Amino acid sequence: MVSLFPLVPPKTMLTSFHSSPSSTIFKTLKPPKPSLSPKTLILTCTGKPSPKPKSRATMNAPKPTSKNRRKPSYGTSRRSVIKKTFKQEQVMFTTPVSDDPLVAIIGGGMSGLMCALNLEKRGVRSTVFDTGMHGLGGRMGTRIIDPHPLVFDHAAQFFTVSDSWFAELVDCWLEKGLVQEWQGVIGELDIGGRFVPLPSSPPRYVGVNGMRPLADSLLSETCMVNVVRPCWISKLEPFNGMWHLSENGKPRGEFDAVVIAHNGKCANRLLASSGLPLIARQMKRLELSSMWALLAAFEDPLPIPGGTSFEGAFVKGIDSVSWMANNTKKLLHSQSNGPHCWTFFSTAAYGKQNKVPQENIPTATAERVKAGMLGGVEAALGLPKGSLTKPFYTRVQLWGAALPTNTPGTPCIFDPHGRAGICGDWLVGSSLESAALSGMTLANHIADYFETGGARPEEFAIGLDNEFQPLEGHDIGQFPGLESKKEINEAQAYQLAS
Ligand SMILES: Cc1cc2nc3c(=O)[nH]c(=O)nc-3n(C[C@H](O)[C@H](O)[C@H](O)COP(=O)(O)OP(=O)(O)OC[C@H]3O[C@@H](n4cnc5c(N)ncnc54)[C@H](O)[C@@H]3O)c2cc1C
Repeated sequence: MVSLFPLVPPKTMLTSFHSSPSSTIFKTLKPPKPSLSPKTLILTCTGKPSPKPKSRATMNAPKPTSKNRRKPSYGTSRRSVIKKTFKQEQVMFTTPVSDDPLVAIIGGGMSGLMCALNLEKRGVRSTVFDTGMHGLGGRMGTRIIDPHPLVFDHAAQFFTVSDSWFAELVDCWLEKGLVQEWQGVIGELDIGGRFVPLPSSPPRYVGVNGMRPLADSLLSETCMVNVVRPCWISKLEPFNGMWHLSENGKPRGEFDAVVIAHNGKCANRLLASSGLPLIARQMKRLELSSMWALLAAFEDPLPIPGGTSFEGAFVKGIDSVSWMANNTKKLLHSQSNGPHCWTFFSTAAYGKQNKVPQENIPTATAERVKAGMLGGVEAALGLPKGSLTKPFYTRVQLWGAALPTNTPGTPCIFDPHGRAGICGDWLVGSSLESAALSGMTLANHIADYFETGGARPEEFAIGLDNEFQPLEGHDIGQFPGLESKKEINEAQAYQLAS
């Protein structure tokens, strides 16, 4: 098993980590030499005035020959994206970094938000772009359905804390009333209704009103972060020493550096023609699981045999369900009659078997998945087939790019020549904690790089060559510190089903 934060220093090193986290982390690594493949074309972006932006390919590139000629169009299939990635030129910014640099952060999930927050702490301005229609947060989604209201965390459910840097941050959120400890019982539920509670330590945390409100409030006290939402950045172009961003042809500003704080197909497409082949190559190595989510509201409490009212359970032995949680109890602390809002997630295997385009789920598939998952809930609870009361509200959603299954094991990736970095959960794990640490680390790394004025780029290359390793954890990610079933005192187990 890959250790969770292989590059985060042990506690004894944390004092220096706090003062300059990135430099401590990176001293333990040998910064890889910028290894541009021999076939990679290099484009120097100097910032000399030019009357009118030309395309990157024509700015400084060698004359097209039969060998280096770029194809006019690559389409968007995975295959064509890969092909294009290997052919693109490497951008080399050579102008000194401005005294008051501005960073574009593409993605407003936990990692992008933490990156923005920590850039501000280092005196660096940023703009966060995010596609979210309802708010920031990405995979920290919460759905509130009026007029009841029904509340569902429909991706991240809760988190634990293992890193002391993250612990400080969580203490601060607790003080501000942004997060709270989840006191409800959670455990492992085996097919047939055998429930084994997990020990109450380590503490589990949830957003006070769900995960999305937490994301939306993280930047509330900042003054150097601009948020642009909803906005889908579709193009990155280096020109005159700056990155030019656009959304379907609409200019979205010029920036001294860019941060890719999202992953998956969208990031592969964006990077495929950006002039960042090394970053694009690492992104493309990432593999992601797919998972179905079923949000369901019931008039009555779920008939949990044995009288235990657990609030969350990792479900074992059932393909269609890997996790179930009672949002009403978790978020509203309601012990009563009201509607009972549950989030159910499938296993990754079930997600793969039933994969469809997530933007366009066929009704028949949605119905089949809903029935399959509700059947799984029945089986998990040890209820007779067909006995589960129908929920009065359901919503089925596919997380097509749910969780990373491999990792390069580096807290962030940075290409100093291209002045571009990547942060995200997948760089060290598959949890909110890993996403937060990645964003914080990249921010500090970029701020350190800016302090040199970009003068010694070779010292700041990080993660560009790391090999990927498989990532372990639950289907819904990692919960550092949470005991695995093997370590639970079996004496605590009790049979719920009669
Ligand atoms: C079903 C599910 C359950 C989970 N449960 C838990 C859990 O209980 N505990 C836990 O710790 N973790 C959990 N996770 C994992 C956790 O949600 C992630 O690790 C974390 O949220 C990742 O944050 P991120 O910033 O790396 O990426 P994301 O949250 O994915 O953020 C990326 C953002 O970038 C935006 N974006 C993408 N492309 C563009 C573009 N071109 N322009 C602008 N914006 C763009 C996206 O819309 C998104 O908002 C779960 C994940 C899933 C899918």
